[in-house]
Amino acid sequence: MLDNDRGRIKADEREALRWFATGDPDARFWISWLEEQGFCEYKLCLRRRGAVAPDSDSVRVGIIAHETIKREHDALAGAEMTVEDAVVQAIGLGESSTFAEYPVMGGCLSGIVDGLVLGRNSAGLDTAWVVDNKTRPRTIGMGPHYSQQRQALGYAIAWAKMYPVYFESGSIVAVVRDKMFLPRHDLRGGWMWEAVLTNDHIRDVLETVDWVRLILTDPSQARDTQSKGKCSGCEYGHRVGTGDCDRDKSLA
Ligand code: SF4
Repeated sequence: MLDNDRGRIKADEREALRWFATGDPDARFWISWLEEQGFCEYKLCLRRRGAVAPDSDSVRVGIIAHETIKREHDALAGAEMTVEDAVVQAIGLGESSTFAEYPVMGGCLSGIVDGLVLGRNSAGLDTAWVVDNKTRPRTIGMGPHYSQQRQALGYAIAWAKMYPVYFESGSIVAVVRDKMFLPRHDLRGGWMWEAVLTNDHIRDVLETVDWVRLILTDPSQARDTQSKGKCSGCEYGHRVGTGDCDRDKSLA
């Protein structure tokens, strides 16, 4: 992805944060903000204010991995089929299919999910596995962070709002997958965590969405990261002392 494309996305995100803060019912909540909120919710307030920082190395690696997965998946997927057609075939005929980088939009939630697998689970229920790619934790045996799980759940909720039949009489599974898993086009491989979507998940995520709207309008209530170590991985943390992150003092 070109640098000017990234610049445009950052500008779009700033506008989306500003719009969401207004409370306009048409404003969208970017599902990726769920992970940002869990990492450091103050970062969202900085972005809304227009603070711009270069992408971290991990973000650059992630962008390349996303593009590679989509390219490899599309090359193997062959014939073009829309997700709408795939849902009809999956529910009517039990046929399974996979998609990479699919836009989801349900309620106020919107985003692009890394992977989508449609089919039936072992109990024969029509099931959508909604897959988000993440970096595998360095600590052996450690699963994805809670914020990463909630991002995957956010995509699953958006899917439930687009295709309620999956939630009402089938099953929706939120999945976090290792983004460096090979072969990358195999969306059924490299899973690190999965959970069947429940009403409790929906309540939890939507409460966080409301909380984010609140802190965007009143940044004084936003919590910064609980761990100083996280600042070293934050694009604003590299610029401590420059004024980009005015939480510097609380971290001293
Ligand atoms: S530098 Fe630290 S406190 Fe500031 S936005 Fe980044 S993670 Fe949050």
